[in-house]
Amino acid sequence: MYKRYVDDINVIVGAVEPGAKIAGGMLTIDEESKAQDSHRSKDEMCMELLKEVGNGIHKSIQIEVDYPSRHEDNLMPILDLKMMLSSRSALPMKVKRTVLTQEVLRVLLNCNPEIPWERTVGHVNNMMRRMQYSGYSKGFRYEIVQSALHAYKKIQELDQTGVKPMYRPKEWSQSERRKEKEEKRRSWYRKGNYSSVIFVPATPESSLKRSLDEDVKKSGLRIRIVEKSGMSVKRVLQRSDPFKKKTCERECCFVCRTGGRGPCDSFGVTYEIKCQTCEQKYVGETARSAFTRGKEHLDGMDRDVSQSVLRRHANDCHNGVIPDYVMNVTGVYHGDAMLRQITESIKIRREGSINNKTEWNSITLPQAAIVK
Ligand SMILES: [Zn+2]
Ligand SMILES: [Zn+2]
Repeated sequence: MYKRYVDDINVIVGAVEPGAKIAGGMLTIDEESKAQDSHRSKDEMCMELLKEVGNGIHKSIQIEVDYPSRHEDNLMPILDLKMMLSSRSALPMKVKRTVLTQEVLRVLLNCNPEIPWERTVGHVNNMMRRMQYSGYSKGFRYEIVQSALHAYKKIQELDQTGVKPMYRPKEWSQSERRKEKEEKRRSWYRKGNYSSVIFVPATPESSLKRSLDEDVKKSGLRIRIVEKSGMSVKRVLQRSDPFKKKTCERECCFVCRTGGRGPCDSFGVTYEIKCQTCEQKYVGETARSAFTRGKEHLDGMDRDVSQSVLRRHANDCHNGVIPDYVMNVTGVYHGDAMLRQITESIKIRREGSINNKTEWNSITLPQAAIVK
């Protein structure tokens, strides 16, 4: 069985004359339906004709069409544009290589070994064309096919020698495989005799990773540097709730009532409270929301100095007059407490001039300095 669902093919086509018809595989003008067509819009005639052609190819292909004049505003609604993993997408080249090799291998394995090899090749070629349209060079495509074929041959060998069946049933050494999977999840980065792992953002030609690799190598530490993927265009452009209010309108919300930035209801955040008079900052983090933590800061200001950094700042710098403060959420970390606390620690060092340097809950950040 071979099924494929194609979502949204966008076409730009020239208009057809009224009365246009497909007869015997040819485009002709049917004088009789010419009059009927006079009240139809051009794009409707054209697309309905295309639909007829498409549906006539094979009974397994069913086409739905849409066109501007079907909509009140005469505009085409294109809700989502989907793309194949493009050569320009913000993923490290190594990741693309792995993903695409697996994709080609999947095509190979999805072809029944009983069918003629030429037909399998046809499917792989189809995949190659898709990669070509996505901007991958001939050389790169060649490498991908090579490594996929290599992997395929290995799977064939294991199958023929009875080590591991090509299409294994679900029960095939289930417990061993589960153990292996768990082990992989815990120690995947150890491969190659590494003892730890650091994630860095992907940079063109992996320049950041390379320079770190060099430093790590010099230090003699066995740390593996792994590139993270960049932000996808979708994440930048898409908002799941476009009508969400920017402020929450709660009287006791420190963030919103002072005109601060950021989501006051997200959990696990770093935040800053800025004095509007002298521009000094207090930097903090919380596992709870900025709303909850901010309310504590607000309540604290009504109490004595020992309980409130903001009150203390007013005493130290503004003769006891409480200045205007603005609270901003500077980062959302959800469950990643370690990253959140490390970020706070760095921010305090850089810009937390209101922070009491001996605050009991501030974290001393261990540092690994590389001596050149
Ligand atoms: Zn709020
Ligand atoms: Zn101040």
